[in-house]
Amino acid sequence: MLTSSAELLEWAQKKGYAVGAFNFHNLEILYAIIESAEAEKAPVILQITPTYLEKIGATAAAAMAREAAAAARVPVALHLDHSDSFKWVIWALAHDFTSVMIDASKLPLAENIALSRQVAEAAHATGATAEAELGHIGGVEDSVDRGSAGTSLADPDEAARLVRESGIDALAPALGTAHGLYTSQPKIDFERLDKIRALVPVPLVLHGGSGIPDNMIREAIARGISKVNIGTELKVAWAGAMKEALAAGTTEPWQAAMKAREAVREVVKQKITLCGCGGKG
Ligand SMILES: [Zn+2]
Repeated sequence: MLTSSAELLEWAQKKGYAVGAFNFHNLEILYAIIESAEAEKAPVILQITPTYLEKIGATAAAAMAREAAAAARVPVALHLDHSDSFKWVIWALAHDFTSVMIDASKLPLAENIALSRQVAEAAHATGATAEAELGHIGGVEDSVDRGSAGTSLADPDEAARLVRESGIDALAPALGTAHGLYTSQPKIDFERLDKIRALVPVPLVLHGGSGIPDNMIREAIARGISKVNIGTELKVAWAGAMKEALAAGTTEPWQAAMKAREAVREVVKQKITLCGCGGKG
């Protein structure tokens, strides 16, 4: 069933686990996420960036995600990931997304607060959830270069102010993680996370979850992360399985798609176990 992500995240925060938030890029990745969530009885957040909406066809992508989420036997939130424009937020809310992220982290704090507040008001008008970002989470996402990670980590007092003054429901503070594949050892500034957790009442989100060692993810959740974003590892699993299927000589799209679906399902299952959200749906 289609659910707001605030509901899933508040429950996770109370109980001390995290909800896996998985990016989808096509139909087989979308179904792999839902099938794994159903098998593990886990609540799940399906998310897509404006880049992918543009690339694969926004209206059709929204419709397939909405239909798949509504038919799922577990709670599923449909989330717009990394929108840097109010336009995409409104588009998503008009297409039944139950959750939206505004990434105004490049703007000065006062402007980030103003735009995040606008997004929170729009989201709340439709019963949806609003997520904002503070500090800069770099790396490459969907082939979009978001700059280098660790250059501007979230300031705890600014985090408290952003949440208080904007009315957002979830916050993604930059803690040193990055989007895409890590080229050096990933880092999470746990002390900073503790300070933010102590000052901010809403659920906290970890971006760039692909490729972070399991023990670091577990520690981040123990210290108060309630949503873990996974995108890149799903793409890598998809690409590996597609390559193999095509190399074996198939020209049937469904045969390659089934292999890819199986590979992605396996990654989603591991991440659900890591997040501790299995059995919570
Ligand atoms: Zn992100």
